[in-house]
Amino acid sequence: MTKQGPRPRRTNADLVESGHRGYFPGMPFIIDQTICRTDNVAVLVHDPASGETIAIDAPDAEAIAARLRERGWRLTAILNTHRHHDHVAGNAALKAATGCTIVGPAGEAEAIPAIDGAVGEGDTIAFGGTTIDVLETPGHTMGHIVYRIPSENLAFVGDVMFSLGCGRIVEGAAEAMWGSLAKLAALPRETIVYCGHDNTADNGRFAVTVEPHNIDLAARVAEVAALRRKGLPTTPTTIGQEQATNPFLRAGKRRLRRAIGMEDAEPAAVFAELRRRKDAFA
Ligand code: ZN
Ligand code: FE
Repeated sequence: MTKQGPRPRRTNADLVESGHRGYFPGMPFIIDQTICRTDNVAVLVHDPASGETIAIDAPDAEAIAARLRERGWRLTAILNTHRHHDHVAGNAALKAATGCTIVGPAGEAEAIPAIDGAVGEGDTIAFGGTTIDVLETPGHTMGHIVYRIPSENLAFVGDVMFSLGCGRIVEGAAEAMWGSLAKLAALPRETIVYCGHDNTADNGRFAVTVEPHNIDLAARVAEVAALRRKGLPTTPTTIGQEQATNPFLRAGKRRLRRAIGMEDAEPAAVFAELRRRKDAFA
């Protein structure tokens, strides 16, 4: 089902509130986040109309199965973003238990346990009367993909982007990772973003060293601290919020480049320097 007309404008407080309830006004899906392993986020998206439920990545079969039982949902598909163990560990057990279909990145399909279908850029997956688009986002791993539901302005970005941070460059070059982040940054500002890890508080400690005078960042760091005190997840975020606060998405912005003394550098070079600094950050 494709929605017509303007979307309601959401404030950040609306985002936080809706994120915790797992329901956004006007959206037909219910979204559930379970933190597993250390800070992996298991994201379930349920469509009450069709009864379908998808998991974006499967960090922990037990935790996801327990959550499905609590919710009374039947898992119909797992959509893997990349081949790292903390994202595919639950694939085989969940498939055995539920008979779900497993979809994963064509670029590293051989490393995705129990995969049924491999997808790449431009491929689509039917879900709950709408369509999930696949975006190739190399850098963290070279095969990494992102799943996006344009009709609902939703994106599931795995380990490419985190709130206030981004994934480590495990296989790719900085240029590839920057290209992938720029691709996400170009999505509509109101896109609601679910990430593979809830590590926002750690990311914020580094981000404020890069842009100590960014007031949007300072406000976000305070918000994240408050959420953590209440034991609540710090995601989802939005593309607009990350554009204002995430140093890795801001590598092309003059204010950030000036803040780190790289005013004349290319965005990809600024990004590479930020990633290097973060890797060395205690
Ligand atoms: Zn990973
Ligand atoms: Fe991961």
